[in-house]
Amino acid sequence: MQTVTTIEELRQARQHLPAPLGLVPTMGYLHEGHLSLVRAAKRACAAVAVSIFVNPTQFGPQEDLDRYPRDLPRDLALLEAEGVDLVWTPTPQIMYPEGYQTWVTVEHIAAPLEGAMRPGHFRGVATVVAKLFNAVQPDRAYFGQKDAQQALVIRRLVADLNFPLQVVVCPTVREADGLALSSRNVYLKPQERQAATVLYRALTAAQAAYQAGERNADQLRQVMQSVLQQEPLARPQYVSCAKLDDLQEWQGEVSGAALLSLAVFIGQTRLIDNVVVGGEF
Ligand code: AMP
Repeated sequence: MQTVTTIEELRQARQHLPAPLGLVPTMGYLHEGHLSLVRAAKRACAAVAVSIFVNPTQFGPQEDLDRYPRDLPRDLALLEAEGVDLVWTPTPQIMYPEGYQTWVTVEHIAAPLEGAMRPGHFRGVATVVAKLFNAVQPDRAYFGQKDAQQALVIRRLVADLNFPLQVVVCPTVREADGLALSSRNVYLKPQERQAATVLYRALTAAQAAYQAGERNADQLRQVMQSVLQQEPLARPQYVSCAKLDDLQEWQGEVSGAALLSLAVFIGQTRLIDNVVVGGEF
């Protein structure tokens, strides 16, 4: 496994990798969710590259950039064990040198949900992902359904800017009790970790209602709200039942694929999760 930092080193190393090349973009502090993307890439590609970069431009001023967890030696050991070929660990200086002023803005699909709660977030995501794609030039890029809107934003970006690559979206990896794996789970105190299971409990309750025939969008949102209300440590930020293709809220009857998603504060920690009903990602 080769580890590189600068764009020049990356371009040099990339030249020697066989096609197809799979890229797994991450912010590090790797867990089984990230590794599931690496394994999916390993299965389908001749070579796998992973980027590790805590991208400052996708964090809001009040967000957790400074305390975002990092452990590069551990990450490199995990990736080595998975048989990754190339790891790129650029610095903020390399990605955004003095004078940097070019941004990628995806419009409608990035506007609701996470986009509404985190202004500028998807501008940072789309910009850094476009830069990663340009530098690495992968044939396939792997993302998790855990960040469903991000995956949709990136699909749109790839289609709109004609990146010659395939976006692959992989299922969310969960703990035994349903909590979606996330680097941010380390912020949770023991009691909060217990409470955090409420996200998936709310989603599965709505999923069960859908499977039992419930098609009213307000009812499905209400099912999620009522589960969340039972957890005193949970402060919901949004609860959504949206069309999977454009992320507009379903009104009245749900007659196609729906993304059930939520963002919930558990103490100071903001968690997101989602499931899809009536279709596939
Ligand atoms: P992050 O390091 O949080 O930016 O995540 C890097 C990639 O891993 C993104 O495509 C995420 O959607 C994906 N990911 C994060 N958590 C999970 C999970 N629990 N299951 C599957 N993919 C995940």
